[in-house]
Amino acid sequence: MHELSIATAIVESVLEFVEKKGASKVLAIRLAVGELSCVEPEQLRFCISSITEETPMENSALEIEKIDAEVLCPHCSYSGRPKYWEDALSSGPVATLQCPQCGKAAQASQGEDCCIRTIKYVA
Ligand SMILES: [Zn+2]
Repeated sequence: MHELSIATAIVESVLEFVEKKGASKVLAIRLAVGELSCVEPEQLRFCISSITEETPMENSALEIEKIDAEVLCPHCSYSGRPKYWEDALSSGPVATLQCPQCGKAAQASQGEDCCIRTIKYVA
């Protein structure tokens, strides 16, 4: 599962960080999740809480911030929001890597991955 491997990577780096700081408890973490990362925030939240039991991260607050997708088109030099597909099966429009100006394949310049923004902890 995609979310679980991402959750594991996030938890490992948070735990490594707090260990270096000598922190006993993590109060809150803030994550940024890109619109093109295919990560479902609620799935990610569930995975993180299920693998942090009995660690300093147990019961910490988790905030997930969404990063909007942006693309860069090598064909017509368009830069900005990508083309969206209205997908009847999903709750909202789905970001694609298609250039809204010329319709060719564009490259993601933002919103492709997820990262840790801040970690709040007590020593
Ligand atoms: Zn284009």
